[in-house]
Amino acid sequence: MACSWDFQFRVLLLGDSGVGKTSLLRRYTEEQFTEATGPTVGVDFCSRIEEPEAGVKVRLQFWDTAGQERYRAVTRSYYRNAACVILLFDLTAHKTFESVQNWYQEVTERAQPYPLLFLLLGTKSDMRGQRSVPREEAQSLADSLRAPYLETSARTGSNVSAALSLLCRELLRAARQEKQAADLYSYGGCTAGEDVPQKKILCTC
Ligand code: GDP
Ligand code: MG
Repeated sequence: MACSWDFQFRVLLLGDSGVGKTSLLRRYTEEQFTEATGPTVGVDFCSRIEEPEAGVKVRLQFWDTAGQERYRAVTRSYYRNAACVILLFDLTAHKTFESVQNWYQEVTERAQPYPLLFLLLGTKSDMRGQRSVPREEAQSLADSLRAPYLETSARTGSNVSAALSLLCRELLRAARQEKQAADLYSYGGCTAGEDVPQKKILCTC
């Protein structure tokens, strides 16, 4: 069976419950926004194929985690295989911003053999009047985490595609640069055979 993508990356979404992880993914993968998504239990999966360059198909496979402490044990078992982590906080709830560092540590304490990419997102940018995290404060945290920072709205769709496209390009660049690229690609039950072109190693079909 022929592969329908050239690269596949697992992307983990982390942030307090209610920051809008599920809504962001729904907007990105289904172009929809619903008021009540209901809490995510454990981990949900969804994916979308991007074409950051003509002829290069990248499948982003998302793991939408539950923010609740009681599900952390489930979530943790997935950290190991992620290529990238999107850290989210709600621009209208400063407490969720304060948690970002904890989420970051959660992941980095369970370090992988290869560097992880991070992206910091401030969500619900449509709720302008209720903003409680200044852009400068968020940008300064992003700089300290060496992560790009963007403000998104799943409700209006603002910056959602831009954020994920940026992530996709960064992942592709990192994968090409990384000496241990083969490690980065070696999940998904595929074994890299001598005759398998490197860029197809990730193929799980
Ligand atoms: P999760 O727990 O992080 O997955 O958060 P959800 O995606 O379930 O969203 C929690 C609540 O915030 C829901 O009521 C959403 O409708 C709302 N929400 C999520 N994203 C946005 C957004 O961009 N703008 C606004 N105004 N509300 C949002
Ligand atoms: Mg959720």
